[in-house]
Amino acid sequence: MASRREMSPLSGNASTLTSSPLPSRICNCGLEAILKTSFTEANFGCPFFSCVNYKYGKPCGYFLWYDPEMCHHGKRVLRRLRDRYEKINEEAARVESQSQKDCGKCTAYMDAEHEKQRLEVVTLKMKVMTLKGQQEQHRLEVETLN
Ligand SMILES: [Zn+2]
Repeated sequence: MASRREMSPLSGNASTLTSSPLPSRICNCGLEAILKTSFTEANFGCPFFSCVNYKYGKPCGYFLWYDPEMCHHGKRVLRRLRDRYEKINEEAARVESQSQKDCGKCTAYMDAEHEKQRLEVVTLKMKVMTLKGQQEQHRLEVETLN
């Protein structure tokens, strides 16, 4: 077997010793597919590649699950975030309706609290996305070194 040192990590041809070869990411339009994250219950947090034209309302139907190893890690974190997000929403809605009964003046305060919590969850979600991006970047670097 010849040296693959010159191989680009984006060539999609990592069939040698590297443990996590990147799948082909070219959709039926001939464009590079984008990485998205599933939010359906069955495949929660699983990353997948999708047609970039999805953004413009005319996807070609290209679909490919990404590495399930990363999926497992992301799943745990993302599920926890989603549960927390739902809990905050429930709690905020409950307290909000309660305070409306008790005192009309409280709602402004509750809205502010609710908004603060929402922003906190959004920030957490972005942190997870950044971590996942860094993880992929790290893998690309490792593949380049190999
Ligand atoms: Zn496409």
